[in-house]
Amino acid sequence: MGPSSGDIVGFGANGDALQGSGYGNRPEPSGEALVEIRNLAVDYRISKKATVSVVKDVNLDLYPGESLALVGESGCGKTTLALAILRLLPKVGVIRQGSIRFRRRSGEMFDVLALNTNELREFRWAEASVVYQGAMNSLNPLLRIRAQFAETIRAHRKDMSAQQIEARSTELLELVQLEPARVLPAFPHELSGGMRQRVLIALGMVLDPQLVVLDEPTTALDILTQRSVVEVLRRLKAELRFTMVFVTHDLPLAAELADRVATMYGGRIVELADVEDTFYNPKHPYTIGLIKAVPPVTGDTMMVASVIGSPPAFGELPSGCAFHPRCPYAQDRCVNEEPPLERLAVGHDAACFYADEMSLQRKPVVADV
Ligand code: SF4
Repeated sequence: MGPSSGDIVGFGANGDALQGSGYGNRPEPSGEALVEIRNLAVDYRISKKATVSVVKDVNLDLYPGESLALVGESGCGKTTLALAILRLLPKVGVIRQGSIRFRRRSGEMFDVLALNTNELREFRWAEASVVYQGAMNSLNPLLRIRAQFAETIRAHRKDMSAQQIEARSTELLELVQLEPARVLPAFPHELSGGMRQRVLIALGMVLDPQLVVLDEPTTALDILTQRSVVEVLRRLKAELRFTMVFVTHDLPLAAELADRVATMYGGRIVELADVEDTFYNPKHPYTIGLIKAVPPVTGDTMMVASVIGSPPAFGELPSGCAFHPRCPYAQDRCVNEEPPLERLAVGHDAACFYADEMSLQRKPVVADV
């Protein structure tokens, strides 16, 4: 169970704890996965002959009703991974290897990578939808919101009457705490940024998908509007019980909304754990660095420590562990060998040779690497 709406989410005075989270110990997700991703690798073409690896070695199951946050700095591969699930990669993106299997409501599994264009169109709204960041770019500026709902629904559900479409649009707008009478006749530019983002979220739900992917859902919004969007997402998830994957570099948002957190670096998942374990007991130095970079709720900026350096450019990944040039705990082995993502405890995986020794308070293994 996630925190209640009144909880304050952030990092504690000692920089190492989540305040007011109220997370209980969840069992590891189990049962039949909604999505099974195996050995996924995505490349981007950078010229006629050259490609760079952007996502690799991803093995991940998504379970019905869960919320997974993909976290990391820009350029770590998180958006590419999220969009690959829906085959919504930019034109330069190529799924080089792996499989993405999706379970229909009937229980039958199918291979997303084998869908043809028509099947993909069906899949994208009816089974899985995406909510992009920057609502103004995603809504058609020339169409009233009512028409945008109608267009989306009619493309997939020819059996729905105009009254049914109006009723569905109204229901969803109410769910995202908007006034249908005000919003349905409006053009996108007549709404605030937060309202447009909530319209997009409602549109994403219109065909009752099993999976919703959200790319930086609160990034372009001011702090108060972010708060209202988080409330909306929390409420939708509780009421509609879809599976949510959201991409964010905002760790407090991940703490509020996620059941599990996957930390990405250099195109790989380097840590995957329950949200509570992620924030109280992180085991990968990169996750630890990201947590320590968030100001505590006390406002004590002395507790803040940034991760030194920047993520490597794709195509220029360092040898061995891609994080080693920035890692305060790196040793010789890290320069030459790539650590596999390994199970540390139930539901907690990390890709670090020294994960067992890591904690938020951990001192470097070697002082002067
Ligand atoms: S494997 Fe080495 S460089 Fe990589 S995160 Fe662990 S300690 Fe740091």
